[in-house]
Amino acid sequence: MIRINQLKLPVTHSTADLEHKIKKTLRLSSQEKFTYRIVRRSIDARKKPDIYYVYAVNVNVSKEEQILKKIHTPSVLSVREKNYQYPVSGDTPLLQRPLIIGAGPAGLFCAYLLTEMGYEPLVIERGKKIEDRMEDVENFWKTGVLDPQSNVQFGEGGAGTFSDGKLNSAVKDPSGRNQFVLETFVKFGAPEQILYDNKPHIGTDILSKVIVRMRKYLEEKGCQFFFECCAKDFIIENGGIRQIVCDKKTFDVQTVVLALGHSSRDTFEKLYARHISMEVKNFAVGFRVEHPQSMIDRAMYGADHFQGLPASPYKVTSNFPNGRGVYSFCMCPGGYVVNSSSEKEETVVNGMSYSGRNGQNANSAIIVSVTPADFGASDPLAGMRYQRKLEHAVYKLADGKIPQQMFGDYCNNVESRQYGDFLSSTKGAAQLSNLRGLLSSDMEQSFIAGMQHFSHIIPGFDRADAILSGMETRTSSPVRINREKNLESEIHGLYPCGEGAGYAGGIMSAAMDGLKVAEAIIQKYTNKRQIE
Ligand code: FAD
Repeated sequence: MIRINQLKLPVTHSTADLEHKIKKTLRLSSQEKFTYRIVRRSIDARKKPDIYYVYAVNVNVSKEEQILKKIHTPSVLSVREKNYQYPVSGDTPLLQRPLIIGAGPAGLFCAYLLTEMGYEPLVIERGKKIEDRMEDVENFWKTGVLDPQSNVQFGEGGAGTFSDGKLNSAVKDPSGRNQFVLETFVKFGAPEQILYDNKPHIGTDILSKVIVRMRKYLEEKGCQFFFECCAKDFIIENGGIRQIVCDKKTFDVQTVVLALGHSSRDTFEKLYARHISMEVKNFAVGFRVEHPQSMIDRAMYGADHFQGLPASPYKVTSNFPNGRGVYSFCMCPGGYVVNSSSEKEETVVNGMSYSGRNGQNANSAIIVSVTPADFGASDPLAGMRYQRKLEHAVYKLADGKIPQQMFGDYCNNVESRQYGDFLSSTKGAAQLSNLRGLLSSDMEQSFIAGMQHFSHIIPGFDRADAILSGMETRTSSPVRINREKNLESEIHGLYPCGEGAGYAGGIMSAAMDGLKVAEAIIQKYTNKRQIE
């Protein structure tokens, strides 16, 4: 197969233009037939307003060797497509169905592979099915009344269900897991372009439907789901996990996947009380910052709305001599700031968008790195307590609403009285406030310096009426649940997995870690269950 990299075409091009360019690059005659698959598509806006799509394509054509002999350019080469390899089952007897705790991306993809390989896993999820969960979340945004078991963090699909649905990952992927996850999303209804877009996203509207279809498929194939079923205790005997105690049911177990996500604090506390090996982890906290999307598009594309291109994302980062990194996180073009709290009297925000990304504002978290030095302790739960303290302070600031401040007022340490040239797009009520004093003063200075620095990359980034929302505290898990080489914790049969255990950050990497853990279980155990 021939790979052509760096095929550059104007953003207005047609499919015929792309095929013509492939033909021209490979010097094919008009009679020579070929097929192709787009491997990657990205936007090149370095010479704005001249903007291009840049493609990498794999081409199938006869006489491949002859063609390659006459073309001497590094962007044309011979490649072999490598697909994901299903693992081979082991022979340790499997006495119980594998139990997965959590139906987020990690738990669902672990369940998917186990189900496809005949292991018929059980999945328990503290929250509700998506259909019911959506009602609870909408109700919370409308009334402020939180259901601590059914919210933006907890329920079918996990934390990413009410998200921007960004599906990119920085994880290197020689195993093909990344592609496997994307293909699975497409199998359940996601658009095909996520397979090749450089920054794939599907939005909360599509993602939620994909997950429902995935669950129904899994159920048909023998996987069993238990919703509103929270793992409350872990019974360990002779160094192995034996039972999972839930509110209404106790499961006898041999293998348990802990795919808890980063917000299951009561479960982290229980695991710590049961002496499961875990450690504190660095993360980052800050504010969700809104700008008009047109301002971002102008900076990135050279025009407000450019020839049908999607609302532009951005990524900014800086490091300061005080050791603090300041960077953008989970940027949502054309998105909303959402109240994503999961505990009473605590407020936390995040960002989401729909597939069209056609909201008025761009938002991203601008966050500052934190370490145990900021937590005031270094025991495994110190970061979690730090998050809770911040979230409670944020809650008190605006009585459970999202506290907001204009960046200019933040710099001057005065409460905001009004919005500037644009309004905020939030899900959940907001209230103008003063956000100073939540972060330590060196973090505040780093945040302000970061905003000013980013305005050199995106003019207007530090505009006085940029809207800050408090606070983004759950950028990644505050703990790592340790696992050994075989992916088990030091408790036999217990597999920490995904973002909550500290092995992923984002939908894709969590899903890939779910696959990795499923592979470890499959490689160890036979799928022929011996005793029910
Ligand atoms: P989770 O998705 O958190 O799933 C864990 C599940 O376990 C939850 O459903 C929870 O209810 C359940 N659970 C926890 N404890 C128990 C228990 N004791 N018993 C039973 N069930 C339990 N990432 C991206 O890559 N792109 C984005 O655009 C994006 N946007 C986001 C927007 C928002 C609003 C939020 C909150 C997050 C966003 N993220 C995004 C992050 C992403 O959602 C997470 O990285 C990802 O969901 C982690 O997957 P996970 O399976 O490890 O954990």
